[in-house]
Amino acid sequence: MKAMVLHGLGQPLRLEEVAIPKPGPNDVLVRVRACGVGLTVVNLIRTPGRVTSYPRTPGHEVAGVVMEVGSEVKSVRAGQRVTNHYYLTCGQCRNCRSGRETLCLNLRGHVGAACNGGYAEYLVLPERNIVAIPDGVSDVDAAVASDAIATPYHACHKEARVGPGDDVLIIGAGGGVGIHMVQMARLCGGRVLAADIGDDKLALAKTWGADEVIDVRRGELAPQVKALTEGRGADAVIDVVGNRQTLEAGIQSLAVAGKMVIIGSKPRSVYGEAPSFMLNTAVFTQRGLELHSSRYVTAAEIAQTLELVRRKRIRPVVTQTFPLERVEEAHELIRNNATAGRIALVMAG
Ligand SMILES: [Zn+2]
Repeated sequence: MKAMVLHGLGQPLRLEEVAIPKPGPNDVLVRVRACGVGLTVVNLIRTPGRVTSYPRTPGHEVAGVVMEVGSEVKSVRAGQRVTNHYYLTCGQCRNCRSGRETLCLNLRGHVGAACNGGYAEYLVLPERNIVAIPDGVSDVDAAVASDAIATPYHACHKEARVGPGDDVLIIGAGGGVGIHMVQMARLCGGRVLAADIGDDKLALAKTWGADEVIDVRRGELAPQVKALTEGRGADAVIDVVGNRQTLEAGIQSLAVAGKMVIIGSKPRSVYGEAPSFMLNTAVFTQRGLELHSSRYVTAAEIAQTLELVRRKRIRPVVTQTFPLERVEEAHELIRNNATAGRIALVMAG
């Protein structure tokens, strides 16, 4: 089969012919139909310690068809259309058993880093990671839903706890995760203030439901947010960018009792600075602010997200697709922050 293979830290991926993997007793062999491409993959390729060994095929937002199941697999059958959860969890620890599987105490790593991923014609996934795709949801939409839409589901619903009428500031609203955060915050009843840089990203955020757009090039963020909220500030800030500048500006943009939600981090190896920011504890406590991390989603949340896509309550925003062998072009666009919405690989045939 064809696969895009990584041979060392930060190297370009190479198109190679490799053997189709064999599923173990508790595994499932999936023929890949589509695979989402985002900043997570681009960062992990350049971050020491994330890829456990080489050669490695990245890609963790997969949709495809089950070709074969291991002898012990009970819940998945050949021919089923599936997507995946991308953390390799134990399923047994207290966090796995209490609905917090992304904080698994025995985490083995991630699909596409600790085992081969979806930048290939086939991949093997543990049965536990499989999530069925409902009829009516396309392969590309399902692939993107498994991370770029599911992450907003968790962030808005469980961390920011967006409710009717809340003012929600989304920093990085025009990107692959951000554009779905805009829709999800709206779906939860929020009034969305979408911040980004670049006219195309702000236009996209407006198209997909942002009530107000804020161009961060035109002035400091917090005063613009205050001006749009009658001086109150935002009830929740969801920061998809997560650098020192955005995090500090985000906290300054919060209303009293506001919630700051951080999605992901910026590794020093890629961005050249420590992933940290200054917090004025007097302001933090006197204003009763909350600081939340949003760590991916559970498999159950992916299923719920797919159902929202099936009902067309939220629309996957895939702005460009590439064939497998051109994934480096997709990565280059993401590295240069030159994309609005999500990018996906679509397999030929
Ligand atoms: Zn666990």
